[in-house]
Amino acid sequence: MTATSALGAGPAPAHALTLRVYYEDTDAGGLVYHANYLKFAERARTEMLRSLGFSQRRLGEAEGLGLAVRRCRAEFLAPARLDDALCVETRLTALGAASVALAQTIAREGRPLDEECECRCCRSFTRAYLRHLYMAGEILAARALTEHNLYFYGRLMREAQAAIASGTFTAYAESRLGRLSSVETGSERDEN
Ligand SMILES: [Zn+2]
Repeated sequence: MTATSALGAGPAPAHALTLRVYYEDTDAGGLVYHANYLKFAERARTEMLRSLGFSQRRLGEAEGLGLAVRRCRAEFLAPARLDDALCVETRLTALGAASVALAQTIAREGRPLDEECECRCCRSFTRAYLRHLYMAGEILAARALTEHNLYFYGRLMREAQAAIASGTFTAYAESRLGRLSSVETGSERDEN
């Protein structure tokens, strides 16, 4: 596991933890067992605290403090599988006198924005990294996503022109729209 960024100042700070799905994490179907996402989220919260200089053991031993989850809501959008590399992002959403609210997203690491696209953005950056750039307000996110959008529409027009010229536009349009509507989002959310 590797902590790749620390919670810091900014409009949407996020901590990112990457981890691998092992056999012990999966169910009989080779998918991550649903309760194990909570363990991944817990590890990410612990590593976020560590990156900020807080050790949970030291907090307990020296300060007599402990952290407990009071409320948790999870949405499962797409399954993670054996051997997948996942990125757990943790973001502070509210800070109380004796409580914190966190939003956590678990997504497959390493996938490009569009697996069929050959633009520079999709060849250079993962979805998780693009999301990190966007949430951190980095201008590179806007530049990379604009490049992807221009490439996408350019390819769409070239394909449509070729389909019209060959008299197969109806079949092309149905196939393209079918693929676009089946794009998966691939993330889960866990709030504490
Ligand atoms: Zn692209």
